[in-house]
Amino acid sequence: MATIKIKGISACPGVVSGKVFIFAQPEIKINEKQIATSQIEQEYKLFDEGRTKAQEQLEKIKEITLKNIGAEEAEIFDGHIEILLDEGMEEEVKTLIKDELYSADKATQTVAEQYIEMFSTMEDTYMRERAADMKDIFRRLVSNILGIHIPQLSEIEEASVVIAFDLTPSDTAQMDRTKVLGFVTAEGGATSHVAIMSRTLVIPAIVGAREILDHVQNGQEIILDGSEGDIIINPSADDKKFYDTKLTEYKKELERLATLKNLPAVTKDGVHIELCANVGTDIDAKPALDQGAKGVGLYRSEFLYMDRSNWPSEEEQTNAYANVVRAFDEDLVIIRTLDIGGDKVLDYFAFPHELNPFLGWRALRVCLDKVDIFKTQLRSILRASAFGKVGIMYPMVISLEEVQKSNDILEECKKELLAEGIAFDPNIQCGVMIETPAAAMIANELADIVDFFSYGTNDLTQYTLAVDRGNPHIVSLYDSLHPSVLRLMAQATAAATTKGVWVGVCGELGGNPLATLFLMGIGVTELSMSAISIPKIKEIVRATTIPEAKEIAQKVLSLGTGTEIKKFLTESLEKVLNR
Ligand code: PEP
Ligand code: MG
Repeated sequence: MATIKIKGISACPGVVSGKVFIFAQPEIKINEKQIATSQIEQEYKLFDEGRTKAQEQLEKIKEITLKNIGAEEAEIFDGHIEILLDEGMEEEVKTLIKDELYSADKATQTVAEQYIEMFSTMEDTYMRERAADMKDIFRRLVSNILGIHIPQLSEIEEASVVIAFDLTPSDTAQMDRTKVLGFVTAEGGATSHVAIMSRTLVIPAIVGAREILDHVQNGQEIILDGSEGDIIINPSADDKKFYDTKLTEYKKELERLATLKNLPAVTKDGVHIELCANVGTDIDAKPALDQGAKGVGLYRSEFLYMDRSNWPSEEEQTNAYANVVRAFDEDLVIIRTLDIGGDKVLDYFAFPHELNPFLGWRALRVCLDKVDIFKTQLRSILRASAFGKVGIMYPMVISLEEVQKSNDILEECKKELLAEGIAFDPNIQCGVMIETPAAAMIANELADIVDFFSYGTNDLTQYTLAVDRGNPHIVSLYDSLHPSVLRLMAQATAAATTKGVWVGVCGELGGNPLATLFLMGIGVTELSMSAISIPKIKEIVRATTIPEAKEIAQKVLSLGTGTEIKKFLTESLEKVLNR
């Protein structure tokens, strides 16, 4: 078979080879034609058999969930099975088959639509949220009646390389790390959430490989070079040899960097830079500590809200946060409040249809409208602060009022806990993400009401440049080293530093070796990143001085294009590392 080579965007470094597993949602086509009276019994049978298969699948998913996540989440599938086996539902479907001469799939689909409509218009929020469960259950049932298989990431049996058009954060969260060797998506950019997740999970990955699905078949042999974005389908013997060597070199470099693990991140002139990890769940704490993280600069709390069918309780959230806080002992753990919307949706929460979701109802905007949900989270974060050093961070800020309102709600939560005799740290630090040009431009005023800033450079880049971070068609325009992004950061950092507010970076630029000298030079004192990037960044910190970094930053700020900036930073970095 001929070898095919495709280029995508590097998401997580590393070389892997394995068999292709295509993860795609099949199209479901309903049989609209009326059936003959003689077929009624046959359609009943199709319904019964489809239902039995769906039940077996749900039993299996329940078992996997019990093993991987926990009993509470597994119980949700008991509820799904109960709905599937509901006699009232069966009767409605069979009546449509008999009286209207509908095919089994059409009858089931019709009943499904009625159930979904009924649930989504209910008064009670809990019941309304069950509409998402109904969609899931009936989609499974209808596809089984039609004999269509719906692939699940959790059902991969042999360790494979996953190929998909796109993966949601919740798909990636479901991945069994022992079975998914690597993955490729047709959509996405280097800072889209699927790419960030691959780095957090340390799964070699390539995104934005637009033609990938035109060229792969299940079971084919494939090699990914995550560092370069190279994909090789049906590799030749020479390709295999070349990538074997590359993998060996990559492992050697990792071993060399691992020797830095216990050394401090201190510049040659004795200035300490905090190198922290970005985490998505409490499971990520250990790998982060293994790479030498000295705290968490960004706990993406929204992952706790995904892959489930209801809001996490105060108790559950407190436990998840406290697990990370305890793991990091005396080091600061910054928990970002819920950042949903954009590409991060929840199955059980109905978002309005939006033409521009990234400019829409997301993050702090949702929290300030849904105060109950916000308060549950703030109370949990406060409670977790009793176990160590915690910071709270608000995402997607554009105004002082938003921060003031959030701080008022936080004060209310503190008062409640105090009255209830529940412990928390009264001096908990509170900061904002600077991820909109609006926030950067009011840094002077924001600095009066917060303890720290952290640049969300992924969003700051997309909003400054008006370039969608996940759109592979305009990937060449997406540039976090564009002069406008760097100048906004330099201005806002100067404003914050004057007021004694410390400044960090938690977007992907924080783990980009090309940016380290510039960021240190403008006064950033904390860099938070995917754990795998920490050793390399530490090597750079230890090789320079602050005056040298300042000089580099000054020069960068005088350059007018991203290309010039990258060239200059590449040369500066080489000089610093090779002297
Ligand atoms: C960012 O925007 O840079 C950031 C860190 O937040 P997220 O990537 O989760 O949007
Ligand atoms: Mg962001």
